[in-house]
Amino acid sequence: MYNLVLFGPPGSGKGTQSEKIVEHCGLVHLSTGNLLREEIKNKTPLGMEAKSFIDKGHLVPDEVVIGMVDSYFDAHKDAKGFLFDGFPRTLAQAKALDKLMALKKTAIAQVLMLDVDQEELIKRLVHRGKTSGRSDDADENIQRKRQEVYRSETLPVADYYTKEKKLANLDGMGSIDEIFGRICSYIDKKTKK
Ligand code: ADP
Repeated sequence: MYNLVLFGPPGSGKGTQSEKIVEHCGLVHLSTGNLLREEIKNKTPLGMEAKSFIDKGHLVPDEVVIGMVDSYFDAHKDAKGFLFDGFPRTLAQAKALDKLMALKKTAIAQVLMLDVDQEELIKRLVHRGKTSGRSDDADENIQRKRQEVYRSETLPVADYYTKEKKLANLDGMGSIDEIFGRICSYIDKKTKK
């Protein structure tokens, strides 16, 4: 199995690039944000609980997200690998993911971090706020809260993977295709070795 994590702040382009990567590499896309939005759309108890956190710009509790990832994993036993997008977002999630991978006799191969200027992030999120229809995108205060949560809870995950020598920083500025080109050449280099 070849498992990748795509990492970066809200607005860094994880969702957009993930769709292209899974197509290029034949991986299964696991976006916790998408899974949570699906639960909300279906008005499940999990979805209703998650919505109360998401609409404040907070993270959904670790045990909820980890349980969801675990079931998704089990539902895709034949996958040749996964692309994790928006997960892990806390140290507890990163550790739980390592355990889960070990149980399935696999591991995270690489973590790709998309680097984007603060100014560009804000520009993209303002635009997304007008077009995505997502309740957590439309409000500037929620946006600000999400960036704050990213810095305090999610950035330590990058240090965790740096220590494991798995983190690679990639330039996330430029056109969608330029960025995708950089991601592909990195993956191709790593998988040809
Ligand atoms: P973005 O692409 O803007 O970073 P996502 O679509 O990944 O956002 O997630 C939207 C919201 O869903 C997050 O702000 C958070 O509240 C919740 N969420 C998504 N993934 C996780 C996770 N792994 N742990 C906790 N909360 C999560």
